Amino acid sequence: MAVIELKNVRKYYGALEVIKGVDIRVEDGEFAVFVGPSGCGKSTLLRMIAGLEGIDGGDFLLDGRRMNDIAPDKRGIAMVFQSYALYPHMSVAENIGFSLDLKKVPKATIRKEVEAIAEILQLTDYLDRRPAALSGGQRQRVAIGRAIIKKPAVILFDEPLSNLDASLRVQMRAELQRLHRDLKATVVYVTHDQVEAMTMADRIVVLKGGEVAQADAPIALYHRPDNAFVATFIGSPR
Ligand code: ADP
Ligand code: MG
Repeated sequence: MAVIELKNVRKYYGALEVIKGVDIRVEDGEFAVFVGPSGCGKSTLLRMIAGLEGIDGGDFLLDGRRMNDIAPDKRGIAMVFQSYALYPHMSVAENIGFSLDLKKVPKATIRKEVEAIAEILQLTDYLDRRPAALSGGQRQRVAIGRAIIKKPAVILFDEPLSNLDASLRVQMRAELQRLHRDLKATVVYVTHDQVEAMTMADRIVVLKGGEVAQADAPIALYHRPDNAFVATFIGSPR
């Protein structure tokens, strides 16, 4: 189980309030997409869920348990970044297996897990390469592999496809949806791309200036936007 609840969550950078009392609930196994213009607070919200940023007000609950003060590595939450953030001096296999290596899992076990994940992500032939010798799509697959190897209950994606060209982006969307079905994890996926949100989400949360403008299923949002901002952003018919 992995139900995410944000309750009246706030974040300040100095005097600037960037998250202004956000309430969001993501159901177990749901693929939720946070969408909104640049600077609206998408990354900040994800980083708070991951524990990479403190929560200045309100609560983050995971399955009803308050997580505000739980260390990032104790949350059972993995995060995939736009920039991949791979270790350049390590092979693909070492990158994917790194978190298990830290936990002193036996090498042979790590190798087996890494090979299973490489199979899913079509990286089997690239395990001995360094990240520099991979394409953008392959690097992003490695970043995903590294995130899922510990079988997290929650996976957070922060604009994972925005560095890829258009055709690869479309292909990777389908791959990520398949992965979500297979892993049965709860996913929060951040993008500024409306099309990506509409095609991938079970539910879309539209953010505007650190607040939720509307949260609904893609079709409902498209046909029944609550306000002009959502209508314009999603591109609803008039
Ligand atoms: P998004 O991911 O939706 O583009 P962010 O969550 O990155 O937006 O940023 C939300 C707001 O917080 C923006 O106004 C941004 O400038 C500000 N912000 C983000 N990180 C910091 C930081 N470390 N220090 C100060 N302001 C920040
Ligand atoms: Mg961002």
